[in-house]
Amino acid sequence: MRRRAAIYCRISQDRGGAGLGVARQEEDCRTLCARKDWDVVGVYPDNDVSAYSGAPRPQWQELLAAVRAGRVDAIVCWHVDRLTRSPRELEDVIDLADRHGLDLATVSGEIDLATPTGRMVARMLGAAARHEAEHKAERQMRQRRQAAEAGKVSGGGNRPFGYEDDRITVRESEAALIREGARRVLASESLSSICRDWQARGVVSPAGKPWKPKGLRALLASARISGRREHTPGDSWQGTRPLLGQIVADAVWPGIISHEDSDRIRAAFTDPNRRTSVEGTQRRSYLLSGVLRCGKPRPDGTVCGHGMVGRPRSGVPRYVCPNVPGTDACGGTGTVAERTDDHVRDMVLAALESPAFVDRLRGSDGAGTELYEEIRADEEELEELARDMGERRITRKEWMVARQPIEDRLQRNRAKLSKVSRSAVLLDFVGSFEDMRDRWEKLNTSQRRAIITACVRSISVVPANPRKRWNPERFVFDWIA
Ligand SMILES: [Zn+2]
Repeated sequence: MRRRAAIYCRISQDRGGAGLGVARQEEDCRTLCARKDWDVVGVYPDNDVSAYSGAPRPQWQELLAAVRAGRVDAIVCWHVDRLTRSPRELEDVIDLADRHGLDLATVSGEIDLATPTGRMVARMLGAAARHEAEHKAERQMRQRRQAAEAGKVSGGGNRPFGYEDDRITVRESEAALIREGARRVLASESLSSICRDWQARGVVSPAGKPWKPKGLRALLASARISGRREHTPGDSWQGTRPLLGQIVADAVWPGIISHEDSDRIRAAFTDPNRRTSVEGTQRRSYLLSGVLRCGKPRPDGTVCGHGMVGRPRSGVPRYVCPNVPGTDACGGTGTVAERTDDHVRDMVLAALESPAFVDRLRGSDGAGTELYEEIRADEEELEELARDMGERRITRKEWMVARQPIEDRLQRNRAKLSKVSRSAVLLDFVGSFEDMRDRWEKLNTSQRRAIITACVRSISVVPANPRKRWNPERFVFDWIA
């Protein structure tokens, strides 16, 4: 006997027409029925009913009644998530399948409710759909995405910093601050240092609040300020929104900083090696902590190599190899901070005065262009994949498998790019030795540190000769270029 199939369609939050319309669902279901050689005895559309609000579904109730009355022996729908809104509803369907031999077929895949495996699949699909809906309705997400792809203005709340209330016109006074902040971050200055400065200058956010590192980071990392639209698919995160979304389009508003600088900042913020102490109450008063490495030889011929930390002795600031039980630090090297800082400054400025050195730094910077292109290509590919999944050309599983290697590569390239950009920014500072000495005095620790770490990977310090008071040869520089 041919199966008598009822098609059930449901659409939620489809006011913008962005969703999978009832007509489309029905059409796909009819094709499926034809393939399975089932007779379509009824179509039950519940249109525009909110997915998880618990609103009544009149057609659904009629369909269940038809099944109980024995007029229908198969239900066809687009996806399990169209069929039931909660695990309990799904169990009702499974019960009906038991009692009435009900068949279930979905356009997105076969589900045999007569077997334990089929039921498990149905439950998993139902749970996954619910999970998704609890975070963001899929169709809402698609609408946001479409708005994003069109580069449209979005969002409520305060106007974005740097723009007027229309979110499009640039507010020049704030744009200048954004450009300044970008430049300073690219010079590896810490967010807390910039915030302290901005607070002192009375710079406030659109909400009228003083800038905090976390907010400044979000501002500078946003693609918005480079005139690009960013989108974070609602199903790719839960709880805390990630710092970076996918850049999906050029926006309708003008950029304040270049795409290139924006990419560099985004790379810098996602570099695992960058210390972004966002809560950052801690001031780094020791210029060279972490840069200096203990160079004391061990009995076995190796070198301690531990990072030296700032620690005063009798009130005099010093860098020492920390003698901490349980670590491999030897505790055998120390040097006076002030004189060491001056020596390192002079060495770095002398290096920067050399055109050959600067040329080498610039040379290592050339790799940046290729990295940008690779990063851009990977972002586009991720974008393509997300679209394929959005339009169900590929399954979620295929999407997850395909995006993993791309994301890994992206992360590696972003880390590389952030290193490259550090040296690029240094070039702004370069001048004559005296000129740099003058400007150095006006820099804060964070800015000075940025310049030093752009030039040297580390500086090894060998233990002092007790007969010599100050010996610059104790410091062995590992220059970047
Ligand atoms: Zn040591």
